[in-house]
Amino acid sequence: MKRYWFNKLISVALVLVVALAVFAISCAPKTEATEEIRVVVSILPQAEFAESVGGDKVVVTVMVPPGYEPHTYTPTPSQLAALKQADMYAKVGSGVEFELAWMDNIIEANKNMLVVDCSKGIELAEMVEHHHEGEEQEAEHHHHGKDPHIWLSPKNAKIMVENICDGLIQIDPENKEYYTQNTDKYLAKLDKLDEDIKSSLAGITNRSFIVFHPAWGYFARDYDLEQIPVQIEGKNPSTKDVANLIQEAKEHNIKVVFASPQFDVKSARTLANAIDGRVAFINPLARDYINNMHMALGELVQGME
Ligand code: ZN
Repeated sequence: MKRYWFNKLISVALVLVVALAVFAISCAPKTEATEEIRVVVSILPQAEFAESVGGDKVVVTVMVPPGYEPHTYTPTPSQLAALKQADMYAKVGSGVEFELAWMDNIIEANKNMLVVDCSKGIELAEMVEHHHEGEEQEAEHHHHGKDPHIWLSPKNAKIMVENICDGLIQIDPENKEYYTQNTDKYLAKLDKLDEDIKSSLAGITNRSFIVFHPAWGYFARDYDLEQIPVQIEGKNPSTKDVANLIQEAKEHNIKVVFASPQFDVKSARTLANAIDGRVAFINPLARDYINNMHMALGELVQGME
């Protein structure tokens, strides 16, 4: 009789253990599903793209911090270590030096994360160089590279946003609708931005602008402007280059040298003084992309008038 009750007790205990195990297993995926997707991006403007698409389902971190620029930035060891927690890495993909130098290490740091190429579907343009009429072009041989600054064209930004959306859907297909809706909303804002730029620039007849760091090539192409860079291939201008720029500024009646906080502002000021003009700031790397593009547009319109 005792043995009977003992067996009964054992079987009840077993049932309880099994029930607990089933309960635990059924609970586990639920807690995982509510966890945010960790997205890492290379540059700040991509943060607004990823946050706009991912909404409250993503946490976004940026490799190149404010005040630094992606042509020379070196990630810190703690940034590389933090990649172990990432689910997705969205690279710019257009040949930004930071990625050329570090992408292998970034992938090595976490082989499980999905790497999204934001430039997929964007045709890279040649880095436009400015040649002066009658100037001996062979005098100094320049290597013509592709222009990596794709994000400053709203048209390109739309493709970058769509690539990020595809990546998030690949990681989290259950929320496909959510990501698609968010993407459509943000793309509409980019269309509005594009319209605003077109209408603001419609009345401008003098469409040349001098900018210290030539980040605005795609922007100039899209809106029929001429970017005259001070820096050539990341190098500051020679005395002869400066003389040419001063001549150029006089010809086009240019009174503003556009600069950005990440680059040599002093040289921009020297040139501005030489043309009896001023320095204005346009930021190619702000996190609040759309807002910042509106501000840059305002400065450009004012500076080209
Ligand atoms: Zn740049």
